[in-house]
Amino acid sequence: MTAVGIVVVSHSRPLARAAVALAEEMLHGRQARIEVAAGLEDGSFGTDAVQIVDAVTRADAGAGVVVLMDLGSAVLSAELALDLMDESVRGRVVLCPAPLVEGLVVAAVAAGSGAGIAEVAAEAAAALAGKRSHLGAVPAPGTDDAGPAGAELVGAFTVVNPHGLHARPAALLVQTVRSLDARVLLRNLTLGTGAVPAASLSRVATLGALAGHEVEVRVTGPQAREALDHVLSLAADGFGEETGLPAPVAPPDRQQGGAPMPAAPGIGIGPARTATAPTIDLAFLATAPSGDPAAEWRRLREAIAAVRRDVQRLRAQAAREVGEVEAAIFDAHLLLLDDPELVAEVRSRIEAGQGAGRSWTEAVSGVEAGFAAIPDPYLQARAADVRAVGDQVLRQLAGAVEERMDVEGVLVAADLTPAEAARLDLARTTGVVLAYGSPTAHSAILIRARGIPAVVGAGPEVLDVAPGTLVAVDGGTGELVVDPEADVLAAFRERADGLARRRSQALARAGEPARTRDGVHVLVGANVATPEEAAAAVPAGADLAGLVRTEFCFLGRNTAPDVDEQEAAYRRIAEAMDGRRITLRTLDVGGDKPLAYLPTANEANPFLGVRGIRLALTRPWLLAEQLLAAVRVAHDHPVDLMFPMITTLDELFAARRVLDDAIKLAGQGEPPGMRVGIMVEVPATALKAAAFAAHVDFLSVGTNDLTQYALAAERGNDAVASVADPLDPGVLQLVAAAGRAAGPGCLVAVCGELAADEHAAALLIGLGVRELSMAPRAVAEVKEAVRHSSLEDANRLAARALEAPDAATVRALLGGHPPGRAD
Ligand code: PEP
Ligand code: MG
Repeated sequence: MTAVGIVVVSHSRPLARAAVALAEEMLHGRQARIEVAAGLEDGSFGTDAVQIVDAVTRADAGAGVVVLMDLGSAVLSAELALDLMDESVRGRVVLCPAPLVEGLVVAAVAAGSGAGIAEVAAEAAAALAGKRSHLGAVPAPGTDDAGPAGAELVGAFTVVNPHGLHARPAALLVQTVRSLDARVLLRNLTLGTGAVPAASLSRVATLGALAGHEVEVRVTGPQAREALDHVLSLAADGFGEETGLPAPVAPPDRQQGGAPMPAAPGIGIGPARTATAPTIDLAFLATAPSGDPAAEWRRLREAIAAVRRDVQRLRAQAAREVGEVEAAIFDAHLLLLDDPELVAEVRSRIEAGQGAGRSWTEAVSGVEAGFAAIPDPYLQARAADVRAVGDQVLRQLAGAVEERMDVEGVLVAADLTPAEAARLDLARTTGVVLAYGSPTAHSAILIRARGIPAVVGAGPEVLDVAPGTLVAVDGGTGELVVDPEADVLAAFRERADGLARRRSQALARAGEPARTRDGVHVLVGANVATPEEAAAAVPAGADLAGLVRTEFCFLGRNTAPDVDEQEAAYRRIAEAMDGRRITLRTLDVGGDKPLAYLPTANEANPFLGVRGIRLALTRPWLLAEQLLAAVRVAHDHPVDLMFPMITTLDELFAARRVLDDAIKLAGQGEPPGMRVGIMVEVPATALKAAAFAAHVDFLSVGTNDLTQYALAAERGNDAVASVADPLDPGVLQLVAAAGRAAGPGCLVAVCGELAADEHAAALLIGLGVRELSMAPRAVAEVKEAVRHSSLEDANRLAARALEAPDAATVRALLGGHPPGRAD
């Protein structure tokens, strides 16, 4: 006799596994086929219909499968999975409205005892009966602040995000609401728009909620209280965004075009090319539907599922190449793909007899028009994201092959979707010219992060440029010349050649050590976060990885990585560096970079709060696990350890004790050659450098944080960007204080952004710095700058800079010592 299978669908993989383990305890040796479809591939919360289909297939031995789900969108995903299943399987699958834990326990017992599918499902659905009869009726609404089902809770917040509730903050809001069992409605009290369901990205955006607008939140459902609290606290935190961003640049008028805007620096010269992305033959939209709404609906769901997988892949690639912040652009796309309002709209059109393609197109156009009608230009520009996702699904429905952005030369296009920008081939695409678009568009952000010179908003006339026509573009100034005269072209080429010549000379010698003319050896390393970045750092000439930001292991997930996972990640970085030393900085999060699984108190000044080593010392198990992983790797590779945000000697000693315990636990003694250092990011630490130098092997100055603390100017806040200049003589005094602590037992390094400024290399050497670590791209040129300097000149330069009244004077001093002209 075959047993009924059970599938557990949950947003959280650990939760699902723990529930299964609990249920299995109750089986007392009997067998039940229980499969899990929980969490997303990258470890984050979420449910995925394709995973559910796979789990059902595994659980199905022919007697049927009972599917148990946790909250909100788990149910939607399970319904979608049902749509995707073969007719023959679908008939024996039951989506069961049971409470997850209680339902799973009784379903497992029933299935393990040989009950049929109807009995297993009925048992599970009735699983609350015992608890109900024991505890009696639920108190009447109004007697309990917890917000029982039916009671409405109301709150309000003011939007603090400078761009309003645009795609990224709105995506976080929608994700949060969807993970709770509550119905949340939002109204923009300032404009009088709404109410709209907060679970729908497309509807939230149409609130037109801008900075300063008041938004009302109305919540009902079993988790109303949690939902309201979450939404209000997210709103107070600016939905995870830094809230001091600059005002958005308005996108150019689509009709009129205008002067091209600089969008990504660098010189691009080459033949104009159009992308080879296949255009969609819209004729298929006019063809009559198959006549079977169920079949049309299924076709659409399959297309959406395929696009979702594609977007998830691009998201992972973007996270690897340019970081989590940019990759989050794709979260909004993913949310649109299963936006309940949009999906419901499409379904009702299909049920009314329309074909899948037409229903999708019309529903998406409605959402797009909603965005376009918002008066705010930044939110208006998000209509492009809706169109991009809409087209991707349409292309899939039309059976078009995946877009390929195979462009050799300068890409000239109307606009690019983020997906297209992520697919551009860095080795072949020399520049990008867009007729429309804006520098703040997600595609422009990605192009910039990928280092391709670009101008945007160049006007529709650029679309008339014949393919093959020579185009020259300066993405730093916005200059664009089509079919340039010989002298203009020569000037562009000279600019490009000058940059390229210097770069290739530098690259040719990148692998050699960097010594000043009078023989002082300066180590030049790379700041990396991932094994891929480490692999790129070696050909870039890095002598070492002077800063490994280990946060990458911890961000974008719901639980901390365990020791083995961390060890594997650090080992891959060490292996990619091929014998070169790596400096693992222990976890530097908290405050401005919160982790969902390490909740910290809301802080009025997060940069002055529990971050860096302070957070790690409040969670010693976290630091202990990280150090154990690092120590294991240090037995096989040259590894240094570095503690961030150290302010007092006591913090250093406490961290050192955790390290000593980790060394004991690893059981092989102190790893040979392992050195221990601290980051100097706090002004007081720089001033106390000598005291620290007695206990560590190196000090690494983090000029990014040191600058913000020294000048009281928050990093990332454009309003104070002109104040936050690392060349301010006040900051340099602090670097000099750290430099004075250098001696035979203690090296002084710089790993903040200032290290990447080739013009500052001599100055830093003069301040006592002997190791510089930076983004891999800058390594070769900084090495050249070191080679053109001499210690004597560097000392003189440093003395003058320390006496300078302001950063501008220091900059002028550095301008007098460009690489190649040392005196
Ligand atoms: C710094 O503060 O200069 C630094 C290198 O650390 P991070 O930028 O990671 O805070
Ligand atoms: Mg820092």
